[in-house]
Amino acid sequence: MQSFAYAAPETVEQVIAVLQEHSQAGKPAQILAGGTDLLVQIRSVDGSARTIVDVKKLPETNRLEIGASEIYVGAAIPGAVLTANTDLKARLPGLVEAIDLIGSTQIQGRASLGGNLCNASPAGDTIPALIANAGRCQIAGPAGTRELPVEEFVTGVGTNALGEGELLLGICFTPPAARTSDAYLRFIPRTEMDIAVAGAGVSVTLDEKGICTAARVSICAVAPTVLLVPAAADALIGTSLDDEALAAAGAACTAASSPISDKRGTAEYRRKVVAVLCKRAAGIAAERARGSH
Ligand SMILES: Cc1cc2nc3c(=O)[nH]c(=O)nc-3n(C[C@H](O)[C@H](O)[C@H](O)COP(=O)(O)OP(=O)(O)OC[C@H]3O[C@@H](n4cnc5c(N)ncnc54)[C@H](O)[C@@H]3O)c2cc1C
Repeated sequence: MQSFAYAAPETVEQVIAVLQEHSQAGKPAQILAGGTDLLVQIRSVDGSARTIVDVKKLPETNRLEIGASEIYVGAAIPGAVLTANTDLKARLPGLVEAIDLIGSTQIQGRASLGGNLCNASPAGDTIPALIANAGRCQIAGPAGTRELPVEEFVTGVGTNALGEGELLLGICFTPPAARTSDAYLRFIPRTEMDIAVAGAGVSVTLDEKGICTAARVSICAVAPTVLLVPAAADALIGTSLDDEALAAAGAACTAASSPISDKRGTAEYRRKVVAVLCKRAAGIAAERARGSH
């Protein structure tokens, strides 16, 4: 392994300046949050020298605010901090259960939501939950700040929409309306510490009679990027989330999938599993929505 330079700026402006200086000088620089993806990749994929720019010291990437009009989750907050927050868990239980699936206790102490999203793995566990909850990326860069829906952030396997000199500050959510809740389920070949064969995040809103008035369904590990599946949401909306509606939503997920076959499962298997996960996650989200106010 080669030697690395390390910068730990304390302001967003400094991060952007370091990234821009490197870009203009033709020198590689890469952002570090928890390092649980990056360090593995440096050791096993690309160990070439670069400047590591640590974004864990910024107030903006560490801010966690659960307000009446907005929920903001800083990009670099470790999973362990988020899963311990009962307020966040009460508002976005499916997102918190997705975060909780990442790695071991040691990994949870470092791994961040922003790192999971920016790493842009097709199997990134938090991404379907972020999309199901209509998360909006807060991005800072040389031209100022901009907002992007999470479903538009990942552009391919391991690539994202960040431009030169940009970083992800955090994710914003509109607090769930009355009788709204979410759930995330994945399937892995082992009991823990594995990558999803398929995953599904679902958010539903019910009216007073239990009819679904809004839904978002997102699936992972069955396509090059995590997908928002509007046809699955359409199958749920206007129904009481009966078996027929859940089956139709599952079938829409299967239809949207274009998975690969690998050692964890065949493409055919993934297409079937994603339908089951969608049905079950929608059922859990609905149960939670019935119990919320
Ligand atoms: C043992 C083990 C088990 C794991 N289990 C799971 C699992 O079950 N599910 C799962 O989805 N993942 C899993 N992972 C992968 C990893 O832990 C997660 O993806 C984690 O959330 C990454 O966060 P991080 O803060 O460590 O990111 P880092 O490794 O620091 O960064 C990841 C990538 O994102 C970029 N980046 C990070 N933050 C920003 C930012 N704010 N702005 C711009 N770019 C940024 C980095 O440059 C890098 O390219 C596992 C990893 C290990 C080692």
